[in-house]
Amino acid sequence: MTAPVPFFDRARGDLALQDELSAVFQSVLRSGHYILGPEVEAFESECAAYLGVRHAIGVSSGTDALLVALMALGVGAGDEVVCPAYTFFATAGAIHRSGATPVFADVLPGSLNIDPASTARALTERTRAILAVHLFGDCAPMDELLAIAGGRGLPVIEDAAQAFGAERGGRRAGALGLMGCFSFFPTKNLGGFGDGGLATTDDDKLAERVRTLRAQGARRKHHHTRIGGNFRLDALQAALLRRKLPRLGALLERRREHAARYAALLGGRDLPLTLPDAGAAGHTFNQYVIRLKDASLRDPLRSSLAEQGIGTEIYYPAPLHLQPCFAQLGPPEGSLPVAEAAARDTLALPIFPELTGDEVTRVAAAIASFFG
Ligand SMILES: *Cc1c(COP(=O)(O)O)cnc(C)c1O
Repeated sequence: MTAPVPFFDRARGDLALQDELSAVFQSVLRSGHYILGPEVEAFESECAAYLGVRHAIGVSSGTDALLVALMALGVGAGDEVVCPAYTFFATAGAIHRSGATPVFADVLPGSLNIDPASTARALTERTRAILAVHLFGDCAPMDELLAIAGGRGLPVIEDAAQAFGAERGGRRAGALGLMGCFSFFPTKNLGGFGDGGLATTDDDKLAERVRTLRAQGARRKHHHTRIGGNFRLDALQAALLRRKLPRLGALLERRREHAARYAALLGGRDLPLTLPDAGAAGHTFNQYVIRLKDASLRDPLRSSLAEQGIGTEIYYPAPLHLQPCFAQLGPPEGSLPVAEAAARDTLALPIFPELTGDEVTRVAAAIASFFG
């Protein structure tokens, strides 16, 4: 049997930087400064410059970036926030924790990003914001969403957790809406060494609010102007991420190469699959997610690949309106057909910068031979 192909392997990239990362740890250790401080400030300015925003604020996770963005906008009890039904749980979980109610919109069959028409139908008098997700590293249809929101004076928040470095119309994710939220969870495009996140905005007032909220609502020690939380970023995390940021362009390039190779090997041979649009401009391929035309073959394909040592994942096995904790919110099963179908027919293939071209070829060959 040939060597296994892992779904994801961070050690490959990290071990190559071992000496540099150890030196960063030594330097933070000598500084004795572990939370916020100069390393976090430097990382924030470097992120702001890279993303093309006035403010980038380091926070404790992507989930907390979403929560603190909603809190900064004053979203709370009695409000509704529209978000896609097909995304990672945290998108809707953060809306609920802010006190507001998530209202689920369906997604587009091609990109699986939030559907602007379904978003427009989900708006009510209570809608306070639209929370768009740049799913799998590809930007949501922001022009359409901004047009819908603009007509109503609503903010669009970007859940860009999977899309650090993604672009749309010459601007980067996080600079497209009123606020952007990023995650440095190890599997994301800019993967950290533990939990971490970032909130972005061009708005000075919102940035000041996020900075206050992330430190218990106090800009001055023991003087609490708001009720915030502990949403701070660690100095060690920021210092390590600073060493990866200059390499991000090359890492994203590798992701795009792998996506192009999958497309070349799996496309144009009549396999009963729908592939992601490899040509989508600015796509960063945080995930490479195929759809099976016959959903009943998804799990057998996954098992067959597993038997050959090939790792896959299902992102996501249930749409959020059917999760037990949200089921009472609705809408009922059958209402968001694209999200519901995607939960049954999607399969995420291995894609990470240090994957080799040979490994991509083996995954594609195993899929092709499954279909005979
Ligand atoms: C990863 C992710 C989050 C949460 O980020 P954490 O850093 O894990 O808290 C939120 N939204 C989406 C779409 C994600 O993929």
